[in-house]
Parts: sequence; structure tokens; C-alpha cells
Amino acid sequence: PPAIKKISEKYDAVFVTGCDVPDTTKPRANAAFVVLARNKELDGVIQSIKSIERHFNRWYHYPYVFLNDGDFNSTFKETVANYTSSPVEFGKVGPEMWGFPDWVDPKVAKEGIAKQGDAAVMYGGMESYHAMCRFYSGFFYKHELLQKYEWYWRLEPEIKYFCDITYDPFQAMIEKNKTYGFTIAVKELRETVPNIFRYASAYKRLNNLTSKGLWEMFVEPQPDKEPEIPEDDPNYKPPLPEEILRSDPGRNNMPEIDPEAMEGEKYNMCHFWSNFEIAKLSFFRSKEYEDFFQMMDHSGGFWMERWGDAPIHSLAAGALLSPRDIHYFRDFGYRHTTIQHCPANAPGRQLPREPYLEKTTLDERKRLEEDRYWDEFDQPKLNGVGCRCR
Ligand code: GDP
Ligand code: MN
Repeated sequence: PPAIKKISEKYDAVFVTGCDVPDTTKPRANAAFVVLARNKELDGVIQSIKSIERHFNRWYHYPYVFLNDGDFNSTFKETVANYTSSPVEFGKVGPEMWGFPDWVDPKVAKEGIAKQGDAAVMYGGMESYHAMCRFYSGFFYKHELLQKYEWYWRLEPEIKYFCDITYDPFQAMIEKNKTYGFTIAVKELRETVPNIFRYASAYKRLNNLTSKGLWEMFVEPQPDKEPEIPEDDPNYKPPLPEEILRSDPGRNNMPEIDPEAMEGEKYNMCHFWSNFEIAKLSFFRSKEYEDFFQMMDHSGGFWMERWGDAPIHSLAAGALLSPRDIHYFRDFGYRHTTIQHCPANAPGRQLPREPYLEKTTLDERKRLEEDRYWDEFDQPKLNGVGCRCR
């Protein structure tokens, strides 16, 4: 779709080409790293802090906020503080932000979760994972420790940055008037979100939102089909399950999905992979996003399906933002589990291929002659500070 092309060609140039000595004299943004974690993830958390400190934060000293639905123990807190010179805060996520809301029948939800477990939906059988996704979808930005911040950068245990980041991405986003930044976009597992797109589309329709050009990124092209929605008829309403959308919340009455019977646009499963995110908190704190979250939440989809915060954030962005609000950090070398983004492989460094779909698995990467990349991008440029990728 033309909207996607525009993002790279017109609106979304890489902020900084090459590397420089980080200019630490400029003021910091009002921003923090946000890490949700459990005590048992300490090793993975340390790996992540070491990586982000080495490649960015040793120059910029942004603070960290650690959140947990349980209590961090003293080992966790002391160890974490030893790996950074930045301020670190630890906060608890209360039951009002975690677990079943009072309008959900826990018995029904638990049965729904067990069913997803039986069906081998990834993480579908884990109640805590559902709670985590809902927390990152509708609550983290409301946590009291985040109230003083305007921007955040999400970190997870066991992530790795492998190139130096020698500029301040928050300030770059502020200067370029960006709202949401990502570095990897991938396809979601379809069985985790069978109904998500119906609800997101319904949100758009019920609020009379027209696409600002980003929505198309999430829509499966249907070349064989006539467009369902006549553009010139403002009264046309696609036959989506209105009665379900309007029903009392809390009944968990997700419709059974029949893919053949789905009408209108289809979700192409694309989403920004939200374990990395740099974004403006005012986006999530807006009335529009809150309305979106409320509608999605009241469908029961965080429990009866296993909606991830990644497709939630992405579809909200699709409904509310335009391509020019989004920044693709193609210059960040980033890996989490088996998916990574390598700048050497990115449109900023090569001719554009598919700007948004940069899924490079480890196996694929091996095939792409790993060593050659590292040699090429291991050349320090100025005073020993370069785009070192390792
Ligand atoms: P994956 O990346 O999708 O495989 O999921 P993770 O297990 O990494 O979870 C995503 C994030 O949520 C990570 O930062 C985890 O530390 C955190 N997380 C997941 N489940 C829980 C939980 O039950 N409690 C807490 N405190 N954090 C959690
Ligand atoms: Mn993870």
C-alpha cells in the first residue's frame, strides 16, 4: 500500500546517519526506561541492563523504573542498582492494574484460559501472561512511578542491543514530532487474536475515525474481492456484530469466529514488536486511547483470547496515528529471543526492501554471512565511539 512506502520515503528518514561522539551536553528528555519483571528474571534483567548501558545509557544516564505485580526482593534491587549509575525506582503493580477486573467472572475467564492452554495457544494457558498483556495494554502508563514522565523506552529481560546508539532517541523523536517508535514489526500468531481486528475496526467505525494512512499497514490486501464498503455512502455499516459490541461488559461473550464468514477488512497480523518501544506517554494517556482500551478490554479478549499488548498498541496507533507520527529505528541493532533487527540489513543501510517486515531469524542471519556484517560495522568512526555491533 502506498502509505507504507511514504513512511520511509517521505516522512521517516533515519534520525542520525553513522555514529558520533555522543553529545551529552544537551538536556535530557523527561523519560525513563520501563521494565516489568519478576525476581526470578534477575539474570535476564542484568543482561539487558548491561547491554543498554554499554551501548547507550553510559552516556545518557536515563533513569529506570522497575515494576512487578509481586515484591522485588533486596537481592534484585541491590543487584540491579549495581549495574547502572542512573537513578532506579522499584514499584509494585496493584490488583487494580493486574488480573481480572471486577466485571469479569473469574470462573468463566479461567475456563477460557484453560481452553487456550489445551489448544496450545502460545502462553494462552498462562493466566499471568494474560494479566501482563492487559497491564501493558491499558495500565503501565498510569502507574504512579510513571506519572512524572512524558516518554518511556521499554526494556525486557534477555534483550540485546548490539550497536552503539550515539544520539538521544527521545530528543530526536521530540524534534521530529514523533509519537511511537519501533525497531521490529512481525506477524502475530493468528490463534492468539482471532477477534481482535473486529473490535479494533469497530472502534474505528463507532468513533467515525478515518484512516490517517497507518491503518492500511494492518489490513490484508484482498485483490480478488470487490471492496465491501462503498466509499460514497456515508450511511453504510458493514455487518459486524453490533449487538456484541454493545452488550453488557463482563459476559465474555466473544463470538465464535468463522473466518469464512468474516466480512470487510481482514487483519494481516502485522504488529510492532512491543518488547522494544520508545513512545510518548501522552498517546496512551489520551481519551482516544483510553476509549480504545476500554472497548477492547470489555470484549473479554484479554482473557477469552490471548491478546498481546503488541497488536493492541499497533492497532491503536493504526486507528489514531498517521505514518508521520511513527518512527522506525532501523539504525538500532536489537534482538529478543529468536528475532532480531540488524542495521546492516536495514533499509537505512541498503536499498529498501520491505521497510516494515524485517523479520530475520537467527538461521536466516547465519545464511547472510554473519561475519561480514560484523566486520563491516565494527569500524569505530570517531574517538573510538562507533557503530560497534557486537
Ligand atoms: P515474551 O517476551 O512474549 O516471551 O514474554 P515475557 O515472558 O518476556 O514477558 C514479557 C514481559 O513481561 C517481560 O518483561 C517479563 O519480565 C514480564 N512478565 C511476564 N509475566 C510476568 C508476571 O507474571 N509478573 C511480572 N512481574 N512480570 C511479568
Ligand atoms: Mn520477553
